[in-house]
Amino acid sequence: MQGNSIFFLSDTSTMAKLILVPTPIGNLEDITLRAIRILKEADLILAEDTRTTGNLLRHYDITTRMSSHHLFNEHRSVPQVIERILQGENIVLVSDAGTPGISDPGFLLVRECLKAGIDVECLPGPTALIPALVSSGLPCDCFHFEGFLPAKKGRQSRLKILAEMPHTMVFYESPHRLIKSLEEFSVYFGADRKVSVSRELTKVYEETQRGTLTEVTEYFKTKTIKGEIVIVVEGKNDK
Ligand code: SAM
Repeated sequence: MQGNSIFFLSDTSTMAKLILVPTPIGNLEDITLRAIRILKEADLILAEDTRTTGNLLRHYDITTRMSSHHLFNEHRSVPQVIERILQGENIVLVSDAGTPGISDPGFLLVRECLKAGIDVECLPGPTALIPALVSSGLPCDCFHFEGFLPAKKGRQSRLKILAEMPHTMVFYESPHRLIKSLEEFSVYFGADRKVSVSRELTKVYEETQRGTLTEVTEYFKTKTIKGEIVIVVEGKNDK
């Protein structure tokens, strides 16, 4: 019961704080009961796209006010958010999907809140990298999360560094760049490295393809590639 009392204390703290709330990456059932409660109780929800988050809030009858907070306005909005929390408002940050701060806005606000002495909490919840990693069949005791590779500048030097990475690597990728990335991985990492590509996790057309880089690249070359993608690649020392 010790765990429960810790939750109790943390949830009833009287100090206003910033709470990061993960939201579903496809299947609306993946939201937690606690996330729904925190979203309902918050004074304000900062959303990357208020239309996308609006759909989620309507689904769960959440009427909390929203304000937009994204890559292009976060530098301007952070001081105002900090001021509001210091005035006693509990503010929640969500992204369009998954965990804020993971290849999404969040880091800047967290860092500045901590600097201002504000308590920051992140609820556990959906993120695309963990189900892709765990279902890949590649070692997940120690892994490297790369997120999106740079599209152009710095891409090759990054791939050279990653070729030496001893642990399983996790990449986020867009469907139109999947083949290009898999082909480059073959060149830099070796065509016989194992890979697992997860597409549309938690959604109707969810699929995971596992094999060598050669095999998985050939498979996707025969398809029209749509949806959201996570690539998991074997590390150098796991071969
Ligand atoms: N914050 C999110 C998280 O916690 O996973 C990631 C946001 S990032 C802008 C979006 C990328 O995450 C997509 O391009 C894709 O690589 C990955 N992603 C998100 N949802 C996914 C899904 N349902 N299936 C596979 N990949 C997904």
